[in-house]
Amino acid sequence: AAKYTGADRAREHSGALDATAQHHAELAAGLRRGLERGEFKLLYQPIVELPSGSVAGVEALIRWQPNDQPVISPAEFIPVAEHSGLIIDLGAWILETACADAAAWQLRYGIAGPRVNINVSARQLLDPVLPGMVADALHRHGLTPDRITIEITETAVFAGGAALETVRELRELGVGVALDDFGTGHSSLTLLRTCPVTTLKVDKSFIDDLNGTAEQEAIASSLSTIASTLGLRAVAEGVETQDQADRLHALGYRYAQGFHFSRPIPAADIDALLNAPVLTA
Ligand code: C2E
Ligand code: MG
Ligand code: MG
Ligand code: MG
Repeated sequence: AAKYTGADRAREHSGALDATAQHHAELAAGLRRGLERGEFKLLYQPIVELPSGSVAGVEALIRWQPNDQPVISPAEFIPVAEHSGLIIDLGAWILETACADAAAWQLRYGIAGPRVNINVSARQLLDPVLPGMVADALHRHGLTPDRITIEITETAVFAGGAALETVRELRELGVGVALDDFGTGHSSLTLLRTCPVTTLKVDKSFIDDLNGTAEQEAIASSLSTIASTLGLRAVAEGVETQDQADRLHALGYRYAQGFHFSRPIPAADIDALLNAPVLTA
């Protein structure tokens, strides 16, 4: 066989990069077309109160189903939307759709209705028009600000000083701000001194194996103590078993979210849950 040379390797390497870039370019074009064609939808995953299991809120989670193809996960297309800049238009659609659903729930159930959490990406948080867009959406839909919580990530806040100012402006509007995947960033605790959030969403990695080790219990317990000491809500993410739900309640968690309670489901199915007895936590 021919000797494998450095030059071959370099060529293959750049070939691989081209393929990735090409895949991203195609995905970005597909996303833009998908937005025009209405191929996106929001699902909602309940955030429940412990130990009752009653639905306190829901998190909007986007799905993309291109024409007759399988559903594509946001983990795959959100980074591409970020990179291509389409996240600005896609984010506007998400905000609009989630606020419309939240307004329908507010009309139907009043303050007993579910609060709606909306994820925003780093690029959206760095966009100085975001608070104005949120204010406008609240106004047009007749939504009380406390019906909405914006979920942000630590990395987004650290991306620049402007993000922190945006968070302050969102808080001034009266909407909640949640730190998503809390504990997985590099300076989680530092951030709590400067970033005026209302909720910590404790990352699934701290919730997994809760009954496994004393260390895991100590960390999960400390995170809920930090939240309550600072007057913040703590939501445990990725709860998959009854044992975890029981332990979390014992460790002081009042809110939880995960497949144990419900997967993300269409808005109409949330209504079915609200009209039915509470989830069996
Ligand atoms: P996230 O905001 O941390 O959302 C939680 C993710 O964990 C969701 O995945 C949810 O389906 C999944 N999950 C919930 N409970 C469990 C569980 O018990 N076990 C396991 N294994 N997973 C669970 P999803 O919907 O695929 O979303 C992935 C990520 O994509 C989100 O993480 C968020 O960062 C991003 N994303 C989703 N929707 C949006 C959106 O509308 N806008 C933006 N900017 N990002 C979004
Ligand atoms: Mg989230
Ligand atoms: Mg999360
Ligand atoms: Mg996450």
